[in-house]
Amino acid sequence: MRKTIVAGNWKMNASKESVKTLIEGILSGMNGVSSEVIVCAPFPYLSQVETLISNTSLMLGAQNLNVNTKGAFTGEVSPDMIKDFGAQHVIVGHSERRSLYGESITIVAEKTKAAIDAGLIPLLCVGESLEERDSGNTEVVVAEQLNAVINLLGIEAFEGIIIAYEPVWAIGTGLTASPEQAQAVHLFIRGLLADSSESIAQKTPILYGGSMNAGNAAELISCSDIDGGLIGGAALKAEDFLQICKAG
Ligand code: PEP
Repeated sequence: MRKTIVAGNWKMNASKESVKTLIEGILSGMNGVSSEVIVCAPFPYLSQVETLISNTSLMLGAQNLNVNTKGAFTGEVSPDMIKDFGAQHVIVGHSERRSLYGESITIVAEKTKAAIDAGLIPLLCVGESLEERDSGNTEVVVAEQLNAVINLLGIEAFEGIIIAYEPVWAIGTGLTASPEQAQAVHLFIRGLLADSSESIAQKTPILYGGSMNAGNAAELISCSDIDGGLIGGAALKAEDFLQICKAG
């Protein structure tokens, strides 16, 4: 039985004041939440969140990492630095990083490796654009993104990876994939993993992301291969985020 996981991706939205309000709001409503809950904060706020969530069940994640462990990489943040601030997770391959910052499938695979090497759990995002879906290429695109990681790291690495299926057309648009659309791709992903290892496929958490909100979370998470959500906009309001956490 896989555990439900709900992760909030705050993207580049935070201030010291809003972080305090949001975390205190989430913590005040965690009674009765059985899902694992992760908040992925922008780098400058990792330390503040680490302090606010210490001795609670909330877990911390970052949103990006550099593949190198240290050195002359001005402006970059290493996997060890992320760990140093109490994070256990890091988002890798978010579509905004792939499209706005040119992260290729090779770079995403290398970042996944760097995260695992440092003892972090990557939240590995995959998903197709609208054009790719409309041309019938969803499975080809998702398979290519996942195979790059399987080829570099081997299927065993998925013992320590959380996958997030995030159709690009659904991210931040209000256009949620229907439960049927999402479940079909999740089943495809699990089948792809099963081609290499049935037991790892059954254990790997596959979250859905893309305009998941308090109103649609329960139906999506009730699908047999949807193990939770990666939440953007709705993760910025404690009340909405908690409702999603309670949907699992
Ligand atoms: C995301 O950024 O990962 C995401 C799913 O965003 P939203 O929930 O706002 O669509």
